[in-house]
Amino acid sequence: MVEKMLKFIKLSKQNPKKRETLNRIEDFKEIYDQFIDDKAKEQSSRCSQCGVPFCQVHCPLHNNIPDWLKLAAEGRLEEASELAHSTNNMPEVCGRICPQDRLCEGNCVIEQSGHGTVTIGSVEKYITDTAWKKGWIKPIKIENDINQSVGVIGSGPAGLACAEELRRLGYKITIYDRYDRAGGLLIYGIPNFKLEKFVVQRRIKLLKDSGIEFKQNFEVGKDGSLKELKEKHDAILIATGVYKAREVNLKGSDLKNIFPAMDFLTASNKKGLGDKVKEFDNGTLNAENKNIVVVGGGDTAMDCVRTAIRQNAKSVKCLYRRDRENMPGSAREVHNAEEEGVEFIWLSNPKQFNGKEKVSSIIIEKMKLGMTDSSGRKKPEPVLNSDYKIKTDMVIKALGFDPENLPKLFNHSDLIVSKLGTIKINLKTMETNIKGIFAAGDIVRGASLVVWAIKDGRDAAKSIQNYLEIKKLNKIVAA
Ligand SMILES: Cc1cc2nc3c(=O)[nH]c(=O)nc-3n(C[C@H](O)[C@H](O)[C@H](O)COP(=O)(O)OP(=O)(O)OC[C@H]3O[C@@H](n4cnc5c(N)ncnc54)[C@H](O)[C@@H]3O)c2cc1C
Ligand code: SF4
Repeated sequence: MVEKMLKFIKLSKQNPKKRETLNRIEDFKEIYDQFIDDKAKEQSSRCSQCGVPFCQVHCPLHNNIPDWLKLAAEGRLEEASELAHSTNNMPEVCGRICPQDRLCEGNCVIEQSGHGTVTIGSVEKYITDTAWKKGWIKPIKIENDINQSVGVIGSGPAGLACAEELRRLGYKITIYDRYDRAGGLLIYGIPNFKLEKFVVQRRIKLLKDSGIEFKQNFEVGKDGSLKELKEKHDAILIATGVYKAREVNLKGSDLKNIFPAMDFLTASNKKGLGDKVKEFDNGTLNAENKNIVVVGGGDTAMDCVRTAIRQNAKSVKCLYRRDRENMPGSAREVHNAEEEGVEFIWLSNPKQFNGKEKVSSIIIEKMKLGMTDSSGRKKPEPVLNSDYKIKTDMVIKALGFDPENLPKLFNHSDLIVSKLGTIKINLKTMETNIKGIFAAGDIVRGASLVVWAIKDGRDAAKSIQNYLEIKKLNKIVAA
């Protein structure tokens, strides 16, 4: 099969004329689909059913990986999909974007015995994509509608997972989101080449078809207050994520063409979704033909450099103040970026931005690594008299995100947050200090992962159910 595919690609490259006949998408798709089927079966059958499923332990959702691998190896894909969905609301999303090397696959016993991990994420994606294709994934049918309602603030993975779980139980759910589209960072943060947008949109449609109401362009704190929502619903979930971009406050920071990562990624994602995006179309947020410098070393920085490459940037550099071993981003992503042509400038920090109106160069200071800090990584320190200059046409700041000031935004000064601004919850019940208001996802953990947001959303749903049942009982007793 691989030979057949390679021959196909080789012929297409060698002979453009023949390519016209060969390049029929259906032909390729058929070969490719067969290849994927074979690959998934081959990978599934590699699971040794080791009896010590570290993969399952290290998956935040504790997915029943060995069992769905076994079912997939036997070709029992519908059952595999049901099993995958029993612990995860979006297996095809996690299969695509979980950092598996740090979670399930990194703990595969076969990997640890030196034989290369079972590609769990790809099989998870394959099982669920097949289930969608075959029409096995259907909207929720409610048998017993419950006359209690829950307001969910935020339609990212935490909000969506919680909403789905509660809807399944029969509660009425309304999701409020300030964006024009649902999905949170799944839709406007993570680029299309990692997570195709149709994958998110078909999930949203499924939830709409399941009776969940979505109110887009509704910013809590502006278009309605938390207090109003609390009066309207029997319980509330806050799942608003973290969006305040960390700043680089240097001389020249206010020059034009220096942008926060989310502005750049959102414009690119909107464009990919077919929107008219003025700032992209007029070239402002488009990397084409420009020398791009991305500042930061996390996964967001990797998404920015790889997006810039796809927009045909002239050059793409990534500035990071530590070295490769001490960077927070996934090693796999760095490897991918390097292969695509990104230049990493390790142990380097921006010191000043130069330019008349627009940024035209950056003064960079070299760094060395000192003692290990509280994050467990070595602390970067400047090397004296090491400054040098690089040219640039556009700088993207990808230094991470902090929570917005929610008590202020929500006009609810009694909502207790941590020193970092994340919402404090009772870790057992996920309830905030305000009765009936729960919180989940990045707004509780700080910037994290989709799989953790799903886990939090599911956990919050269980607690909210508990809370609503007691509330109902109390009403009956009081009547
Ligand atoms: C560029 C980027 C790439 C990433 N890549 C990956 C990856 O590859 N793999 C991975 O696992 N994780 C990745 N992450 C992290 C992941 O996206 C987040 O951890 C996850 O989306 C958090 O889910 P959430 O539901 O808590 O919040 P979000 O997804 O941020 O959703 C929050 C929602 O709340 C809405 N909201 C906020 N305030 C209000 C308000 N006042 N009123 C109404 N609505 C409001 C927002 O509009 C948003 O839709 C990435 C993050 C970024 C920024
Ligand atoms: S959800 Fe993520 S960590 Fe869990 S099995 Fe799937 S890919 Fe691995």
